[in-house]
Amino acid sequence: MFLLTGYWPINDTKVGDPEPQTRMLIDYFRLFSFVNVCKRIFLLLIWAEMAENSQKTCLECGTRITGRVDKKFCSDQCRIAYNNKLNSDETKYMRNVMNALRKNRRILIELNTTGKTRVCRERLAERGFDFGFFTSTYTTKEGAVYKYCFEQGYLEVDRNFFLLVVKKEM
Ligand SMILES: [Zn+2]
Repeated sequence: MFLLTGYWPINDTKVGDPEPQTRMLIDYFRLFSFVNVCKRIFLLLIWAEMAENSQKTCLECGTRITGRVDKKFCSDQCRIAYNNKLNSDETKYMRNVMNALRKNRRILIELNTTGKTRVCRERLAERGFDFGFFTSTYTTKEGAVYKYCFEQGYLEVDRNFFLLVVKKEM
């Protein structure tokens, strides 16, 4: 009993101390309340765990996820769908840029029939050539700037004419 209560050695009773039965009762309640506190803490932990688990839902479809703590999606399908949506703006932009570059390259191939062809600006413009898109530039020692759409290049000779060239290798 001493171990349980921490004080009140059984044989050291004084006048005014509670009766042994009352002391037993007090000890019992003390023990009971300790167990109660433990029980409450235990229940609180379980409740917190359950609350955390119930919050884990698939980022894509909202389905409740069970299993690993770091799991964010219910399936690979949802993970892919979510990431695709996340990247859709970026991929849309990149797709547009790539399309513009491909179109420019196709126009240059069509017009550059000799491998080194002089064409006027209108011929490029009427086919929808976009001068804002090129993959690289090459500046000669003289300061002439060749612009390339992949291996197909062009040099602005003057305001109205371009010289179309082909890059031999990377
Ligand atoms: Zn899902």
